[in-house]
Amino acid sequence: MGHYSSRMDTMPVSFLREILKAANSGKIISFAGGLPDESLFPGNDLKNASIKVLEEQSAKALQYTVTEGYQPLREWIAERYYKTRGMTVSPSEILITSGSQQALDLIGKVFINKGDPLLMEGPGYLGAIQAFSAFEPTLISIPVNQDGIDIPLLEKALLHNPKLLYLGSSFQNPTSICYSENIKNRLASQLASTNTFIVEDDAYGELSFDGTYKSLIKQLLPDKTILLGSFSKIISPGLRIGWIVAEESLIRKLTLAKQATDLHSSNFNQMLICQYLKENNPDKHINTIRQHYQYKMQLLYDTLCKALPPSIAIHKPEGGMFIYLNLPPSVNADELLDKCLKHNLVFVPGKYFFPDPGLATGNGIRVNFSCVPPEDIIHGGTLLGRLISEEVNTSS
Ligand code: PMP
Repeated sequence: MGHYSSRMDTMPVSFLREILKAANSGKIISFAGGLPDESLFPGNDLKNASIKVLEEQSAKALQYTVTEGYQPLREWIAERYYKTRGMTVSPSEILITSGSQQALDLIGKVFINKGDPLLMEGPGYLGAIQAFSAFEPTLISIPVNQDGIDIPLLEKALLHNPKLLYLGSSFQNPTSICYSENIKNRLASQLASTNTFIVEDDAYGELSFDGTYKSLIKQLLPDKTILLGSFSKIISPGLRIGWIVAEESLIRKLTLAKQATDLHSSNFNQMLICQYLKENNPDKHINTIRQHYQYKMQLLYDTLCKALPPSIAIHKPEGGMFIYLNLPPSVNADELLDKCLKHNLVFVPGKYFFPDPGLATGNGIRVNFSCVPPEDIIHGGTLLGRLISEEVNTSS
C-alpha cells in the first residue's frame, strides 16, 4: 500500500511550473498566466480601508468569527445580484469562502463519492478539474461550442445520472465564450427533471467589455444551481475572498464542510473588502478594469489578425482575460509550444483544460492578455502569429 492517499495519484500537476522549467533563461513573454493586472489593484484605497477597520473595529476584525461569513458583506453581495441581474438572493443563501477555489473544494466534499460521474466542460477550468479530482470522481467532459455547451452531447452524458455539471456561462475559462440565451434555456429545461446540480462559476461575470451583464442559469433553475462568485478579478485575488450562492439547506451542509476546513475565511479581509466597498465606488473601479482589459484584448486581437494566416479565424471575446485560438488540425500545439519556448514565449495548449489531456478534443491554445504588458502583447503576439504561420506553411 502506498504511503500517500490514492487521490493524489489523479491530481493534475500545474502546467505552468512544468513548462517554465523548459524555457530558456532570460525574459519570458508569458501568455500562459491567468492573473489579473496588478497595476489595477486598488492598493491605496485598501490601505485607507484597512486603517479604518483596525482603528474602529480591531477587536472584531482580529477575532475568530462565524463560518458563514461577515453579514454586511453577504448583504452587499445579495444587493449586487439584484442591482446587476435583477435576481433576488437572501444573505442567508450566501456562504463566504476563501476564494471561489475553496468553493469548488467544498462542493467536492459535500457531493462527490469515489467514482461518481461528474460532468465538466471540455475545455474547462483547470482549477475545477484539480479541486474535484481530489474526490476521485469519474470526470466526463462535454465539448463547448461558440454559444455554450454542446446540448445533444450533454443530453447523452446525463444518462450517467451525474451529481454535478460544472460550467462557466459568462467568459468561460479558457475559451472566453458566453452561453447564448437559447443554450441556457435548453440546458435548464434538460436539467430540470434530473438529479443533477449545476455549478455555475461566475468568476468573470463582471468583466464584460461593454459593461452589460449576462443572465445566469441560476435565474432559470434557482434551486438546482450552485452559483460561485469572487472578488479576485474585481478587487484582489490575494485577499482570497469568494462566495457560494445556494439554497439554505445546501448552504448549511457547505458551512459544515467549511468549518472542518478552515473555521472561516479571513475575518479581517472580509471586513476590509466591506469597508472598501462602502468608502469607494466599485462600479467606477470595475469599469476601469473592463476598459483596460478591452484595450489589451484589442491589441492582442489586432496583432494576431495581422500575423496569422487568414485561414485562422479568431473569435473576439466580449469580456474576460483570454483569447482562445482554434488552430488547424495540421498544427501540433505541443510542437508549437516547443518552438515558442526556444523564443522565450509561452501559452497553454488547450489539452490541459481537459480531465485527461490524452482525450482532449479540438486544437485550441489559450492566450492570456490581462497580465501581459502592451509591448509584450505586440512583440509576443507577432512572434506567436509568425510561428503558427510557419507551422501551417510547412504542413501544407
Ligand atoms: N473559477 C475560475 C473560472 C477561475 O478562472 C478562477 C481563477 N482564475 C477561479 C475560479 C478561482 O478564483 P479565486 O479562488 O481567486 O476566486
